[in-house]
Amino acid sequence: MEAADRRQTGIYWQSRMGNNADGIGGNCHRYDIVTSDSQGRPATGRLVVDYGIKIHNGGGAYDCSFPSPEELFAKRGQPDPDHAPDALLLTHSHEDHLGALKHAIDMGYRLPPIHCTPFTAELVKKSLAGAGIIEPDRRPEIHTVKPGETVRVGGAEVTFVPVDHLPGASALLIRTREAAVFHTGDYKFDATMALGDRADPELLRRIGKQGVDMVVSDSTSAGDERPKATEREIGKHLETIVARQKGRAVVAGVLGTQLDRVVSLGRAAKASGRSLVVSGASLVQNIQAAERAGHSLEKAIGSPILLAKDARALPADKALVVTTGAFAQPNAGLTRSAEHLPGALYIGRDTTVIIPQRAIPPVAEAHRTMVKRLEATGAQVITTERAEEMGYGAIHQSGHAIAADTRLLYTLLKPRHVVSPMHGAPGQIEANGEIARSLGLKPLILRENGAVVRINEGGAEIVGREDLPRIGAHETGDLKQLPRARPGEGRRPRPPAIYRYDRLDTTGEALLSRNVDAYHGPARVPRPPRDAQAR
Ligand SMILES: [Zn+2]
Repeated sequence: MEAADRRQTGIYWQSRMGNNADGIGGNCHRYDIVTSDSQGRPATGRLVVDYGIKIHNGGGAYDCSFPSPEELFAKRGQPDPDHAPDALLLTHSHEDHLGALKHAIDMGYRLPPIHCTPFTAELVKKSLAGAGIIEPDRRPEIHTVKPGETVRVGGAEVTFVPVDHLPGASALLIRTREAAVFHTGDYKFDATMALGDRADPELLRRIGKQGVDMVVSDSTSAGDERPKATEREIGKHLETIVARQKGRAVVAGVLGTQLDRVVSLGRAAKASGRSLVVSGASLVQNIQAAERAGHSLEKAIGSPILLAKDARALPADKALVVTTGAFAQPNAGLTRSAEHLPGALYIGRDTTVIIPQRAIPPVAEAHRTMVKRLEATGAQVITTERAEEMGYGAIHQSGHAIAADTRLLYTLLKPRHVVSPMHGAPGQIEANGEIARSLGLKPLILRENGAVVRINEGGAEIVGREDLPRIGAHETGDLKQLPRARPGEGRRPRPPAIYRYDRLDTTGEALLSRNVDAYHGPARVPRPPRDAQAR
């Protein structure tokens, strides 16, 4: 298919993945800037916003898929092609927004300079190191941006606007002389979250007054009209649950990046005279990364966080152990306990397991299996659904804007031309569009990825559509083949995975070519085992 014409003045937006009939994920956007500088000379640039993976539902041929890097980035050791972007901007640190970076590097591509807030930068470094990408010439330049800061890049001024989602999560205001686009990233409004900067309605109102032409907005929970539970309410409900577990061990399973929930669990533990104990290398690393980025969990909780190895002498009913596994991911703490894998946390008859996170559809089956296995040990398992049935109230809330948040954002920003819903399956995108309509705004509904939208003083217009192949990544080797640990030693770090990459069509279903561009250079140095590092 012909590339869309992007020569007229304006900002061109294209969603390359993330709006999928088969579910959300692999979020990636391309913005082309066509403007003029202060002397009136033409200026152009290109930005890529987010580069994530879509995690597959197990059983299929691929572990994940992501937008093909071929049309986005330059190959290593080769000159920049026409399409090389000036910068890669990251809204936040979830895998569906940055998980494809390591794969593009693995496939031999060179990433442009990355701009993001400090916590996101830490998690980019962690992701690349975990994939064995340690050589300086394969690692991208990372520029950290303060929340609220404006950078000039790719011919535009880009402001990182704090939103409530994860530490450092930012919406992006992309502005030229001719147009302004507000790209929400994942967001919601919750003034009670503890870590990072809060979404500021006054700032958003000011941005709206300066003029926003188009809002490109998260649709994930836009159809949810139920009342919202704030993080503070969730914390209170967790506190009640923990208080009722006298004499029992309590283990909670979260997502590794759900650090505000870890704070709520820490506060609930403290209220019951328990210490918060963190188990699992990935979660510990994320908490340390947050600390380095200026988001201290210990400060937010008001008491120290213990590592599992330092808490062995603590009686079980004086601890609340938090680990990973809320989505029953292979290798996560709860999953490993459910499968009785070596080095896993002990869970038994005297344990209450709390899972303060709703299982999303792609992981529902794995989640049910994990809960059954945990119950087979005799443990009591309180999932998010059961907490409500048991009368404790909500112990989880979507990290995304519900209908009321979506209305608030549009009311504050008052976009001049359109609202374009993204980050959603077709029904979610439609629900978001309906909210815009109900406020007298014009929705621009794009049901698929690939449409190119031009926005300028004249309004927003679809100027073309491009086919965008995906890459399917399959991890070779057996995921369960972990290096064996001696009893009491905990888990050994897994050597970096080796992937096979196939080029798929725009739906991710038809195979276009097998094993494309895979980089199997000699640079894949496995990391030394943990005990060698410690000495
Ligand atoms: Zn997210």
